[in-house]
Amino acid sequence: MDKLTRFTKEELACPKCGKVHLCDRYSVINVTEKPELKEKVLMNKLFVFHCEECGLTAPLTYESVYVDTKRKMILYLTPEMTDNTRKSIDQWEKVDASHKRIVTNLNDLKEKILIADNLLDDRIVEFMKIEHLKQLEKEMKDDNLLNILFDYKGTQYYFMVFFEKKGIGRIPVSPEYYRDVEHRYSGKIGSRNNGKFQEIDMKWAGDIMFERN
Ligand SMILES: [Zn+2]
Repeated sequence: MDKLTRFTKEELACPKCGKVHLCDRYSVINVTEKPELKEKVLMNKLFVFHCEECGLTAPLTYESVYVDTKRKMILYLTPEMTDNTRKSIDQWEKVDASHKRIVTNLNDLKEKILIADNLLDDRIVEFMKIEHLKQLEKEMKDDNLLNILFDYKGTQYYFMVFFEKKGIGRIPVSPEYYRDVEHRYSGKIGSRNNGKFQEIDMKWAGDIMFERN
């Protein structure tokens, strides 16, 4: 399996004005080889469609493999799981890496990158999110919690919480708390680490926490 960056030029018609664009479509993004691509992903400049004719800017999510050779991390981005996707993931299983993850959207992809940048374990972060749900119970009574995402500024970690009506909130979390959760759950993680591609999200963490599997 070739881990180097690959892209094709594809014609894409603007959904608003119809103007045809030639877009780069990356099947593999290797950020150890091309660090500037990581910045583009994080700044929403890579998975995006922009039409200079009518000004439309829209996210463009497609199947793509994000490879960080230095960190031994492979993030398989796919909005849907087709038979071809499964076959492709099987091929990528042959590549040696310590963190293999499947993500279904750009926010989750970016979150995994930020977590790795802080040398944290995404599985611990998902356990932390579940523990924070208790704090959010009151707000969840009359609003829909859409997502919780890890973010950071300097040495301060945050959870960004996204509510349907109330909008975005920010909960600071400390490195000490991270280490406490790590201490409490490292045993449970160790026994489930099979080295294969996994979707690590709140559902994954919840299943382990409440022993649903
Ligand atoms: Zn347009």
